[in-house]
Amino acid sequence: MGKRSFRSRRQIKGVLFDFDGTLTFPGALDFPAIKREMNCPADMAVLEFIATQPASKKGALWKILELRETQAAEQSRPNAGAEKCLSELKRRGIRLGILTRNSLQSVEQALRKFEGSRANDFSVIMTRDDCLPKPHPDGVIRASVLMGIAIEQLMVVGDFRFDIMAGKAAGAYSVLLTNRSEPASGPDDPEPDCVIDHLEELLDLI
Ligand SMILES: [Mg+2]
Repeated sequence: MGKRSFRSRRQIKGVLFDFDGTLTFPGALDFPAIKREMNCPADMAVLEFIATQPASKKGALWKILELRETQAAEQSRPNAGAEKCLSELKRRGIRLGILTRNSLQSVEQALRKFEGSRANDFSVIMTRDDCLPKPHPDGVIRASVLMGIAIEQLMVVGDFRFDIMAGKAAGAYSVLLTNRSEPASGPDDPEPDCVIDHLEELLDLI
């Protein structure tokens, strides 16, 4: 698994975070359970599954997903080191953003659990309603424009292979957060530029 922590040789001016399992503690969203409820194949991602379904079924599937996301947001809490990481990056003048396959409502709801951070600390919060979802690089590219940061000076941080696929395809410095567990991987996945176990390690990279 990838390279371990070392300081980026690029000058990083902004960090684009994945939300669930990255800024929030992992496990609140139980995708295997959501997939079973939707009859979604285990090896398919839920947004892509919904997109393949007939129009007559889509409404009910969106309802399941939105309900489970709302419940997860209620139960979510900041990930280990997230609050310290965000406040220190803010203090250093690093611009912050969120890119998620989740909904804006869930993100705003979960962010209320953060003591030191608010939605307006982020230059951009991009959800599935704003761009093509990860692993497509569309959201990373759009976020870099909205944050006013060249893609080479943007760091993408996430806990899932889609985060790294999106970040690398866009040309951003891409960091995989393991949360001290073995992350899922596919045979053709790009290598992250860096692998960290805990969010506070980011502060040594920038
Ligand atoms: Mg995630």
